[in-house]
Amino acid sequence: MTLKIGVIGTGAIGQEHIARLHGKIAGSAVVAVNDINSDNARAVADRLCPGAAVHASGEELIRSPDVDAVLVTSWGPSHEEFVLASIAAGKPVFCEKPLATTAQACRRIVEAEIAGGRALVQVGFMRRYDAGYRMLKQVVASGGIGDPLMLHCAHRNPTVPAHYVGDMGITDTFIHEIDVLRWLVDDDYVSAQVIQGRRSRHAGEGLDDPYLVVLKTRGGVVIDTEIFVNCQFGYDIQCQIVGEDGTASLPEPATVPMRKGAFAGQPLMMDWKLRFIDSYDVELAEWVEATAAGRVTGPTAWDGYFAAVTSDACVEAKRTGQIVPITTMDRPDFYR
Ligand code: NAP
Repeated sequence: MTLKIGVIGTGAIGQEHIARLHGKIAGSAVVAVNDINSDNARAVADRLCPGAAVHASGEELIRSPDVDAVLVTSWGPSHEEFVLASIAAGKPVFCEKPLATTAQACRRIVEAEIAGGRALVQVGFMRRYDAGYRMLKQVVASGGIGDPLMLHCAHRNPTVPAHYVGDMGITDTFIHEIDVLRWLVDDDYVSAQVIQGRRSRHAGEGLDDPYLVVLKTRGGVVIDTEIFVNCQFGYDIQCQIVGEDGTASLPEPATVPMRKGAFAGQPLMMDWKLRFIDSYDVELAEWVEATAAGRVTGPTAWDGYFAAVTSDACVEAKRTGQIVPITTMDRPDFYR
């Protein structure tokens, strides 16, 4: 059976996901698209999924009887409306991160999903599908290094565009760590602190860069992450877990070791898209399989909500310099 998917938002990641779902991943086809710019939607459909219907609105696409499941890849502020409409229509929905742009909006989605009585929502936190993180998770879960005590992490980008300003280091960048590190240690956060580093001369106007985020979990694990988005030298994601009996680290992506001109070493990737390209494939292949079986196996609406609350606390911690508590609603039984 083929899962017939409608995609809302045919921009950068929307096009990449359409190419995956229409041709690359078995058991799925993109049968409908929508974008606020309908000429763009038509051009993308003609190029990537010929014959797909182009709908005048996201709501119309969601209501279409030809659409079994919905993929939301429009810009963040529109996510809530499309996810809620999908839940109301009883259709499974994969929503790119963020689930919604405020914790309150994420909570409304959680409550709507619970009221509907069926798990339908998955959030696009793709790091959970990266082979390296999965191996690391297996080591931790099997007790290979004893209980985790501390994590030392880094999220470094070579540069960021001029429109990357304000708190995007948290809301756009660190949001991936927020989800994947919580999943790795299987523990919820209780507080956040942000410590500013000396400002890099490469930091653009309106941007603090670099800084350190320190999260503490309910079980007492301390997680420090360096956010440095103008590091110049590469797209560099680090994660070392210090356990009671040893340490375990995220494997480096495979690149070719070289010796040349009195230098021995390995090149670093410069493009974040290439670093996690395989994880997007695995993420959507597993989503299609689980959706066809009527299940949600990936990051849930609850995970999207928890990430939003944590992100808000980090932004406040950055603004105030204080240790900010992370307080959520009680986890509903629906998500246990
Ligand atoms: P993008 O290139 O700007 O694409 C978004 C598309 O949605 C644009 O074509 C935009 O049209 C359209 N759109 C905006 N509002 C809409 C609405 N109400 N109804 C229908 N279409 C609408 O952005 P992107 O880079 O693809 O990012 C899209 C989402 O994916 C964001 O939430 C982003 O955070 C997320 N993302 C996640 C990852 C990841 O690693 N998981 C990576 C990249 C992006 P206009 O351009 O005309 O406004």
